Amino acid sequence: MTHTPDHLDGNAAAGDLESLFGADMTTASAQCRGCGRRTRLAEAHAYLGGPGTVLRCPGCQGVLLRLVRSPRDVWLDAAGMDHLRLPAPA
Ligand SMILES: [Zn+2]
Repeated sequence: MTHTPDHLDGNAAAGDLESLFGADMTTASAQCRGCGRRTRLAEAHAYLGGPGTVLRCPGCQGVLLRLVRSPRDVWLDAAGMDHLRLPAPA
C-alpha cells in the first residue's frame, strides 16, 4: 500500500496568491517563525481542502499562511512567518 501525501506543493496555491498579491508568488520566500527555515512558497506544503488555503513549513509543519475568502472579504493570516520576501516588480 502506498502512502498518499495529504498535501500538495505550494504551486497549488499559486493562483489564489497571485490574485491577492498581483504577482507570481511561487518564487517568493518565507521565513518560518517556528523553525527559522527559509522556504520558497512553491515548496511549502499546501492544504486546500478546508474552507481556505493553508501553507505549512516543510521543516516543522508550522502554519506559514492562511488565506480565506468570504463573499465580501479576503482574510490573510501570515503570523506564522517572520517575513515574506517577494521579487521586485520589473
Ligand atoms: Zn518551520
